[in-house]
Amino acid sequence: MPYEDIYRRSIDDPEGFWAEQARAIDWHVPPQSILDYAEPPFRRWFAGGMTNLCHNAVDRHLDARGDQNALIAVSTETDTTREISYRELHREVNTFASVLRALDVGKGDRVVIYMPNMAEAVFAMLACARIGAVHSVVFGGFAAHNLALRIDDATPKLLIAADAGMRGGKVIPYKPLVDAALQAAASPPPHVLIVSRGLDPDHARVEGRDVDYATLRAEHDGREVPVEWLESNEPSYLLYTSGTTGKPKGVQRDVGGYAVAMALSMRTVYDVGPGQVMFSTSDVGWAVGHSYNVYGPLIAGATALLYEGLPTNPDPGIWWELCARYKVRTMFSSPTAIRVLKKQDAAWLRKHDLSSLKWLFLAGEPLDEPTATWITEGLGKPVIDNYWQTETGWPVLTLLPGLDLKPVKFGSPGLPNLGYRTRVINEATGEDAAPGEKGVLVIVPPLPPGCMTTVWNDDKRFLSSYFGHFRELLYSSLDWAVRDEDGYTFILGRTDDVINVAGHRLGTREIEESVATHPSVAEAAVVGVQDELKGQVPIVFATLRQTVATTPGEAADGMLRCVVDQLGGVARPARVYVVNALPKTRSGKLLRRSLQALAEQRDPGDLSTLDDPNALEEIRRILERGPDGGS
Ligand code: AMP
Repeated sequence: MPYEDIYRRSIDDPEGFWAEQARAIDWHVPPQSILDYAEPPFRRWFAGGMTNLCHNAVDRHLDARGDQNALIAVSTETDTTREISYRELHREVNTFASVLRALDVGKGDRVVIYMPNMAEAVFAMLACARIGAVHSVVFGGFAAHNLALRIDDATPKLLIAADAGMRGGKVIPYKPLVDAALQAAASPPPHVLIVSRGLDPDHARVEGRDVDYATLRAEHDGREVPVEWLESNEPSYLLYTSGTTGKPKGVQRDVGGYAVAMALSMRTVYDVGPGQVMFSTSDVGWAVGHSYNVYGPLIAGATALLYEGLPTNPDPGIWWELCARYKVRTMFSSPTAIRVLKKQDAAWLRKHDLSSLKWLFLAGEPLDEPTATWITEGLGKPVIDNYWQTETGWPVLTLLPGLDLKPVKFGSPGLPNLGYRTRVINEATGEDAAPGEKGVLVIVPPLPPGCMTTVWNDDKRFLSSYFGHFRELLYSSLDWAVRDEDGYTFILGRTDDVINVAGHRLGTREIEESVATHPSVAEAAVVGVQDELKGQVPIVFATLRQTVATTPGEAADGMLRCVVDQLGGVARPARVYVVNALPKTRSGKLLRRSLQALAEQRDPGDLSTLDDPNALEEIRRILERGPDGGS
């Protein structure tokens, strides 16, 4: 069916459209209504319906595909491959759920999961879903402070952690980070469940608090735990994401709407059906990892390929070798990963038999034209740019090859996805921007199924962060965009202080707060600047306290250490510049955009409000001279 027709139907008759889509999943009790929109912009999809994500991802496939692989977990770090059938997955998830029960975790309790891309992370997520516990997976690259913030916001009953992750052959122990986070947290959970792979066998254990998964697994192996049926709008999981303040937001997802959106997108966007294989290279700690490493493929009865390791190890052909070995149909990755591969010989793209591979989707950051061209020509396959956010859980803008593939336009993630009423709004007038005119990308509520329902424990923040920007009630994506005559949207970058480093979203305020914890620092400004490989990188401008005797170089190293220790290597600033003064307006507002422009050798813009014109001149000189720290 043509895209235009089905898209129009999803917008003009949302209840009819979504009622049909809801049939793709199992309901213990069917929905009593399709859309309840009594309290805009809060909406309740499939209200009264009772269902469960784990049932839909695992149990319902047992009869038809019990022996089919559900999950293939490949780690080139630990040199292991595990092929897990739906039947085996069912057993592992039940065992894990039984362990959770024994640790007093039940419906509505939060569970923080701090693990890399290993099979047990998937078992843990599904086990939570099975018993109605709300999981909150924290990316393994985040350090103690970030973990502690998330623990305090979610107040979990349990923290599940791996003993260690590995990157490029180097073991990264998680336990010391967990211990530090729990020490810093105001409301630490009573138990920590450690899933050990023997990577850090001597890790410290806290008597009475820390429990070992292998021991409990042996005790609970083979026990079955009944599925907890949940009302469609109850929370399924939380996923924290950076905003304009230092405090991350807990994006809350529901149960029924999310399952339906996953089922629909697997078919229409990703073109993956039962028995077919999807390979998403994301980390399970990100939104893509939740939706397309785990829930999407499993809800569809497909096989999810999970990968732990670098794209270049043991050689830069490893991802394509896996595509050939497991007959991957759809692959999902990020522009940064492709830019890493682009540094290698393009011949690696042709070394393996890729006849089964149909599509490569790339998401999370702007896809630049040279990268898009290199990979499209190298693979000889369509490459599809996807735009979405942690908040939405599935693509807002995309092409839909599973339905009707429209032409790819380089630089654009394409057209609105089914169910998304998107507009581009002129910020000043609040009216629709004309084709070719820059504006803010918004979604007209009600948001479709699958998108966030609220910010955990903070409806007010949900309203003010996303819906308070225009006269009309509109969800602001906080991204600048422009739409062309054909309805294709181009994304032009964030309207707020969020930066995108290698597809990872970071708040510059979080990094500023971390830098400012260094005793030598008086004040810090962090901006994102363009980087050839990572898209953007954070750089720091800081003033030092007069009273502290330290060299700019020592202070810069100290600042870098603060960020790595508190937030993790993912947030490490690329460069630190020690300056005498930061550029501010007469009312004291920091001119981050001017700093960013100078660092990117652009015009710093309107400086009429600048308090001290010398501050920018000095910064220009310092930028020419080179940084005090970083590389
Ligand atoms: P995250 O919540 O971490 O997925 O980050 C979402 C943000 O990443 C969006 O608001 C955009 O700024 C950016 N982003 C995601 N996908 C794309 C894309 N395909 N093109 C341009 N920017 C993107």
